[in-house]
Amino acid sequence: MKALTWHGKEDIRCESVPDPRIEHPRDAIIKVSCCAICGSDLHLYDNMIPAMKSGDVMGHETMGEVVEVGSDMRGKLKVGDRIVVPFTITCGECWQCRRGNFSLCETTNRNAAMQEKLFGRRAAGLFGYTQLTGGYPGGQAEFLRVPYADETHIKVPSTLSDEQVLFLSDIFPTGWQAAVQCDIQPEDTVAIWGCGPVGQMAIRSAVLLGAKRVIAIDRLPERLAMARAGGAITIDFDEESVMERIDQLTDRKGPEKCIDAVGMEAHATATLDSVYDRVKQAVMLSSDRIHVLREMIYLARPGGVLSVPGVYGGLSDKFPMGLVMNKGLTIRTGQTHVRRWADDLLRRIEEGQIDPSFVITHTVPLEQGPAMYKTFRDKQDGCVKVVLKP
Ligand code: NAD
Ligand code: ZN
Ligand code: ZN
Repeated sequence: MKALTWHGKEDIRCESVPDPRIEHPRDAIIKVSCCAICGSDLHLYDNMIPAMKSGDVMGHETMGEVVEVGSDMRGKLKVGDRIVVPFTITCGECWQCRRGNFSLCETTNRNAAMQEKLFGRRAAGLFGYTQLTGGYPGGQAEFLRVPYADETHIKVPSTLSDEQVLFLSDIFPTGWQAAVQCDIQPEDTVAIWGCGPVGQMAIRSAVLLGAKRVIAIDRLPERLAMARAGGAITIDFDEESVMERIDQLTDRKGPEKCIDAVGMEAHATATLDSVYDRVKQAVMLSSDRIHVLREMIYLARPGGVLSVPGVYGGLSDKFPMGLVMNKGLTIRTGQTHVRRWADDLLRRIEEGQIDPSFVITHTVPLEQGPAMYKTFRDKQDGCVKVVLKP
């Protein structure tokens, strides 16, 4: 089959790889109808995540039709079912899965020992990511093997298009979880850094969850326009000081809730960065680029919540912990427990409360995937979200 494979920094190829096959009784194989490129794939494209292997198949936002099942589907999945595949592989049985912490599943990371050696603890297996999260081949391909498929799936009705349900795999529940973790009250202002696909979903989720006001921050005009269409007031961080504008909008009190939908690739903003920071940026490790975190900590209203779906790796230096403590801030973060939110979000799509396909700007055949990684990473051509059709 054809698949997008990783070969190093900025080197994604579309090439022939062996078809996946059933390896375990709880596996299923799907024929992929559509898949997407995620901001998290860009960490691999930029070679910021360790333990990738040349030839690894990319992709963790995937859906399709079940074409083969293992012998132990527990009556939950059959050939012909149309499913969206959550990016976190879940067993449904372990201590974490029983608590709904599906992205912390203790069973599905087959390379857990490798991860534990580096980080002390394990997290769930992920599709199309590093060996540290199991090294499972991803779904930017014609076919995908879904391990623990009896649990790792979201069945979707034929009345909804692929584009309407595909993002249940990741970015919609990710934006939703980011907003839910804010515990939004009717009086709250929610400030959201980053208007990429995750930020866009967080904006719409915060509005659906009843925030009084949503402020969205980015510098790309098309993304800011999309944020305004979703109900946010926007700040262009290239044009104005984020700190001054937010102070002005909140009567110098600060937003009660802040969401970091940017992560470790954050650009330095003029707001807080001294010359020291700017010079240092050229040499420091990616994980020291905590510009957004720092801004959120300085700006948040005391007692507020910082919700961090943005991905960070390794150590982060110059983290203003004293301020977090003295302002009594709560920080909530993590990979998304996709299955915890999926049923509710599918219902909201069916009821017409939201149509996540609004975020799609590019739909191309799988073969154009490598070029699209560059377009998406460089934010060219008005690109917000790329969908690939094998
Ligand atoms: P993206 O790269 O398309 O979007 C990031 C946006 O942040 C861009 O529009 C960029 O212009 C903006 N930005 C950069 N620096 C900024 C700054 N200083 N202030 C404000 N905005 C700034 O990526 P995405 O697909 O939207 O993903 C966003 C993050 O969410 C990534 O780190 C990704 O890995 C992460 N993510 C996490 C989960 C999870 O389970 N927690 C799931 C999916 C994605
Ligand atoms: Zn993702
Ligand atoms: Zn589990």
